[in-house]
Amino acid sequence: MNQLSDRINNLATSATLAMAAKARELRAEGKDIIGLSLGEPDFNTPDFIKDAAIEAINQNYNSYTPVDGYVELKNAIIHKFKRDNNLNYALPQIVVSTGAKQALANIASVMLNAGDEVILPCPYWVSYSDIVKLSDGVPVEVQTSIDNDFKMTAEQLEAAITPKTKMIWYSSPCNPSGSVYSKAELRALADVLKKHPNIYVVSDEIYEHINFKGGHFSMAEFEDMYDRTITVNGVSKAFAMTGWRIGYIGAPDWIARACNKMQGQITSGANCIAQRAVITALEADPSSIKYMVDEFKERRQLILNLLGDIDGFKTNEPEGAFYVFPNISSYFGKTIKGKTINNASDFSLFLLEEALVATVTGEAFGNKDCIRISYAASQNEIKEAIKRIKTALS
Ligand code: PMP
Ligand code: GLU
Repeated sequence: MNQLSDRINNLATSATLAMAAKARELRAEGKDIIGLSLGEPDFNTPDFIKDAAIEAINQNYNSYTPVDGYVELKNAIIHKFKRDNNLNYALPQIVVSTGAKQALANIASVMLNAGDEVILPCPYWVSYSDIVKLSDGVPVEVQTSIDNDFKMTAEQLEAAITPKTKMIWYSSPCNPSGSVYSKAELRALADVLKKHPNIYVVSDEIYEHINFKGGHFSMAEFEDMYDRTITVNGVSKAFAMTGWRIGYIGAPDWIARACNKMQGQITSGANCIAQRAVITALEADPSSIKYMVDEFKERRQLILNLLGDIDGFKTNEPEGAFYVFPNISSYFGKTIKGKTINNASDFSLFLLEEALVATVTGEAFGNKDCIRISYAASQNEIKEAIKRIKTALS
């Protein structure tokens, strides 16, 4: 008999992590799988950051850390927000967490009451919807169009707002579409919110530095949005530190205090060694990670060119992050190699089984017509993967 809570029974498994696990399993069976499912840089953490961690171990950083993070790290975050985002935060407004994922989970649990609605422009990052549901919130999906670069318009936002709307969560650069909201586009959304002073915004900026056009803008930079915006960031992507598990927020102090209180009962402060290393990462000039961003930019062009050669893949031009999100709906209803493809999940499974390439179905991101392909892989892997996909589909 299933003795588990409704909470866990109703929770979806993270589709990105599930696909990565499936690829690992198949590899262990001897299958030559190319993994383009997980959003994880394939670079090593830069040496200057690793050195700081080794130094921290030798200096005996081994005790519990302050729940909201070392004050030196919080100061480095404050400096980073000022330097990169023109945002002024004070110490009580910063909370360091075990990854941006925990930061988001904290926010949901301190902000949402049962039935509160959270507007999620689709496609959204896979975990937003389930993190919201875990806190008894109700995700409200707003479908965007590839022709509008997968961005939510002011009109769409206005139409989605109800008396129950509590928050809006979005990422820019966006996982999975790579779209970057311009200052003008964010201003248009903020203008709608002027009429709704009780709605709060989560601006997830974890891909901030992986931006090929430049021009990153933070919602909290607008004076009228500063007190209503929680800026989420982390080091997983830009510094190739996914396993170190450090994320952070800058927020109105009453929200930060609540996240601190929540975290104090759930996990305590984030890992001591990782926090010391992140001080060094954030104090470094962003030019120290430019070589990775340059490489992602080359790969983006490569994968867009290669996909352009396959019938039935319609893509936007991602301006940031390291994903493409092609619309593959022209394959729906077709039978290839005896397999009928009725939706994006079928298509992604077909690619795994017939091309040995792991991707993620768009359904996990709130879009039924697309799949996500991560190009955080070497150029050779990308070339081989797309060649296999083309062969399997022909
Ligand atoms: N937000 C977005 C948009 C992401 O893609 C991810 C994936 N890693 C996260 C948050 C969580 O990042 P982490 O927990 O590794 O800091
Ligand atoms: N955020 C990454 C992704 O979207 C890592 C996996 C995860 O945390 O879900 O693939």
